[in-house]
Amino acid sequence: MTKKLYYTKALLKNELDKCLSCKDKPCQLACPVGCDPNFFIKKAKENDFLSAAKSIREKNPLGEICGLVCPSKFCMQACTRSKMDYPVNIKKIQATILNEVSSENDDVREKRKEKIAIVGAGPAGIGAAVTFVKNGFSCTLFDENEKIGGMINLIPSSRLPIKVIDKEFSSILSLKNLTVKTNEKITNPIILLNKGYDYVVMATGQGQAKELNISGEEYMVDWVKYLKQPNCFLPLKKIAVIGAGNVALDCVNILKMQGVNDIEMFMRRPLYLMRIDKERVMELIEEKVNLHPNMAPVKIEKKGKNFNIVSAKTILKDDELIQTKEESLYEGFDLVINAIGGKSDNQVQHQNIFYAGECKMKASSVVESLADGIQTAYKIMNPLLKKK
Ligand code: SF4
Repeated sequence: MTKKLYYTKALLKNELDKCLSCKDKPCQLACPVGCDPNFFIKKAKENDFLSAAKSIREKNPLGEICGLVCPSKFCMQACTRSKMDYPVNIKKIQATILNEVSSENDDVREKRKEKIAIVGAGPAGIGAAVTFVKNGFSCTLFDENEKIGGMINLIPSSRLPIKVIDKEFSSILSLKNLTVKTNEKITNPIILLNKGYDYVVMATGQGQAKELNISGEEYMVDWVKYLKQPNCFLPLKKIAVIGAGNVALDCVNILKMQGVNDIEMFMRRPLYLMRIDKERVMELIEEKVNLHPNMAPVKIEKKGKNFNIVSAKTILKDDELIQTKEESLYEGFDLVINAIGGKSDNQVQHQNIFYAGECKMKASSVVESLADGIQTAYKIMNPLLKKK
């Protein structure tokens, strides 16, 4: 599954030339953070990489990360060229441009008196923090982990090299007016209001795995535990991954990097409804991952050192997945990973406490969480900026 993440100069030129400079900019309209591919492609064609990178970074503080991990369902699905042959590979162009140009932070606006606390330094928290500080607000970003980034840090390095994460995070950490407090767990946002913060943005994500609520649940390892310390589970031979979204895909990618070849994926949905890009589904097939669509695990059994999975067949009827009584047995797994998704903590209601990102929405991509963090910051800031 190792693919070239960036274009060479010649291939970049080739891809840039595919852009039709559409006046109505469907690519920009489809981008959750409003990046303008029409503009940055035009600048890159003129060899003005600095302006191209600046335009991306103004909208997206995690532009290179998003270029590497964004799903195709946004700008590329909307690209006019996709109706003719193939879409312009906007994501890869974006990643290549930002890989070429080192980042610079913009000047902040006039300093404001309000103090903002943000809890959770994943994409939503980062989006909110960067938006606040660029508009002159003092911001403290809390995270219970040692490093900022949240779930970004769990994306396998085959998709997202650590040096890219470090580069984009160090630019965020160097922002004036931003204080970052890691290794600090905040469970009750009211405490922060009592400490003198005017507003709190809770962007705590979905750091806990959702349960399947089936018999034998205790025999599974959840994706958060597995992705945090995958090497603790070695050696592995035959693994089951339950789930059909990005976290399931991340688990499979890490297993492949660990040299595990016998991987089976179980999903309630049919293949065409998997919540990952079609190209990634094709990669799974090429890599000979054994896919079991329309299979809902109903029981995990322990047999000696191994585990068996009993799965019920599902059918799609009137857009609804129905679990049938037809069951199959799959035997001999060393490890069963529950990768169906995450859930968030209970929420405190208060007029000065706002929720952003995955803890508010259903599981989402990095760019959607980032966009929600940015929008939440504007929701708080706009009335304040009007007052001045
Ligand atoms: S939609 Fe595609 S072809 Fe049109 S401007 Fe955007 S990237 Fe270029």
